[in-house]
Amino acid sequence: MAKLIDGKKISQQIKDELKEKAAALNAQGRTGALAVIQVGADPASSVYVRNKKNACAYIGIESLAYELPEETTEEELLKLIAELNEKTEVKGILVQLPLPAHICEDKVIQAISPSKDVDGFHPQSVGAMTIGEPGFLSCTPAGIIQLLKRSGVEIAGKHCVIIGRSNIVGKPMALLMLRENATVTVTHSKTRNLPEICRQADILIVAMGKPRFIGAEYIKEGAVVVDVGIHRDENNKLCGDVKFEEAEPAASAITPVPGGVGPMTIAMLMSNCVQSIEEG
Ligand code: NAP
Repeated sequence: MAKLIDGKKISQQIKDELKEKAAALNAQGRTGALAVIQVGADPASSVYVRNKKNACAYIGIESLAYELPEETTEEELLKLIAELNEKTEVKGILVQLPLPAHICEDKVIQAISPSKDVDGFHPQSVGAMTIGEPGFLSCTPAGIIQLLKRSGVEIAGKHCVIIGRSNIVGKPMALLMLRENATVTVTHSKTRNLPEICRQADILIVAMGKPRFIGAEYIKEGAVVVDVGIHRDENNKLCGDVKFEEAEPAASAITPVPGGVGPMTIAMLMSNCVQSIEEG
């Protein structure tokens, strides 16, 4: 039976460590706020924004909420970001994605000062991560590295296959696994023989956005399986990209959905915020 990688427990450990660190910084008068911007009232985004505010409150970081109407123009949003970039007490700026179709996400991401880019999406942050320079790491992939390390999974020398090449998960995941000395294969929708390639993985990271797609035929006996997907199934229950009941018997360790990768993303966002306060 596979070991369950408990993201809920590990994220709580990280948040408790950060709470202590934030209190120590606070005692030295080093504080700062996270500005959280939401445009429109998409219900899923509202849940993510609420969770981020709650995490800030738990750790002891101030959060500033900017809830803007759906019809906010790109110009208005860019102006707000420019103002927040100038405010010394604001140490992190987060714009909840997706944005309404009339606003260019790339332009918005690039408007955030790299020194406040706690999501790690700015091209400068991505570039720094690529060449191993200091900077904010993309939260979900950084959370997966923490999940693996804190669960005692050895990464160096292992073959890691990643399904998905998005800018927020697949690509940064590949870079971070490379940094940890894994041998990395990145696959995508045009990849041929996907099951065969996945069966070579010691560590299989699935970020394809296809509910319950990955079954037993993709998994080598003893592999570590990380499921990044989050979906609601036909019964409105949360599920991932992996058919858990098929993968679990073959895997040596596996992340559940919910309670696996999901809670780690916010924990790493908080880690980036504390890092930003620390860096002043
Ligand atoms: P995305 O932008 O839709 O990217 C999906 C990737 O999977 C693409 O690279 C795509 O290939 C590839 N893909 C799709 N179908 C495939 C197939 N049949 N075979 C092989 N590759 C295939 O998604 P994302 O933003 O990376 O997110 C992936 C999943 O993770 C989603 O379910 C999302 O909700 C979830 N997520 C969770 C968290 C968390 O905190 N737990 C954070 C972010 C995302 P192409 O590039 O060729 O199109």
